[in-house]
Amino acid sequence: MTAADSFFPEDYASARKRFCETARERSWQFETHPRSGGRDGELFTDVARIGSQSPRKLLVLSSGLHGVEGFHGSAIQQQLLQTLDEKEIVKSNSAVLLVHALNPYGFARLRRSDENNVDANRNFLLPNEEYRGTPQHYQQVDSLLNPTQWPKRELPVHLQALVKIAKYGYKNIQQAIAGGQYDFPHGLFYGGTQPSEAMIFTERYVLPMFQEAKTVLHLDIHSGLGKRGQYQMLLDHDLSPNEKVWMSSLFQRDFSTNRGSEHYQTRGSINRWVRHHVPHAVSACWEFGTYNPITVLAALRAENAAHHWGDRSSKEFVSSKEKLKEIFCPRSDSWRQSVLNPADELLDQVVHQWLLQ
Ligand SMILES: [Zn+2]
Repeated sequence: MTAADSFFPEDYASARKRFCETARERSWQFETHPRSGGRDGELFTDVARIGSQSPRKLLVLSSGLHGVEGFHGSAIQQQLLQTLDEKEIVKSNSAVLLVHALNPYGFARLRRSDENNVDANRNFLLPNEEYRGTPQHYQQVDSLLNPTQWPKRELPVHLQALVKIAKYGYKNIQQAIAGGQYDFPHGLFYGGTQPSEAMIFTERYVLPMFQEAKTVLHLDIHSGLGKRGQYQMLLDHDLSPNEKVWMSSLFQRDFSTNRGSEHYQTRGSINRWVRHHVPHAVSACWEFGTYNPITVLAALRAENAAHHWGDRSSKEFVSSKEKLKEIFCPRSDSWRQSVLNPADELLDQVVHQWLLQ
């Protein structure tokens, strides 16, 4: 096992155990919330906090909103738990909040979506938005993306079809496919028909802590989008002129425009929803690149078909899950280092140049 591997969990249960143990050892305040979707006593969202109860500044790191992306989100949280100097935080009028596994079902079952096939990061609609509608391009490629039977093997014809999608102009099609849809309940990027448990949980237990702070920086950790081994800080809400200056200097990139080149607009993101409910919170998606978009889409498609229509006792079913895990949290040591080192550096900068100032 390499040094990087020691931060990356093998499965949801060991990620959770480690998160809880380290938070307790380090004297963080700790809450554990049972969640539905698994066997009794199996799934939880765990919340650890250190520092002031009504802080001037609150840093929040959340993981696993996209289930299987929790492997690497949990690793970043574990690294912070082990390296943060709690005494410095306690002495200051600030606080750090870690929310572990917002979608524990997806984390445990190696799915990006929740137990109702809902993509939780398309589900946080604002009070005036409706859970319906699907982009036209999505409707055109639904049968290709979401086959209603399970081919045990990815046939070349299917892979060719995915390449064809890429030829439409991947950016356009990516926007249409991954932006979110509300009409195909077995499909990818399905936003659901009502607030999901992840949204209700966040509203009930997490948002009040945002509201008690004067300023909040929320980083929701994701993977699978962007260049391999690089991260992006993506925003889908506006910033005030002061926030633009603050964010640009803290992250050393230009926040005068909102999104990076790889980004597409989605409906129902947690970031926009947080900002709507807590206007003094800046909420960003912290994305780490893994594989190219077609490989990611092919793995999502195969796992989704296996999940709905596959034979669960087969080797192929298990391998579609393992493949998805690899796609969102590669085993390669160089990728793992490329996540941990810059995350450590960036969080150190956020703590020392903002939180403790
Ligand atoms: Zn994600």
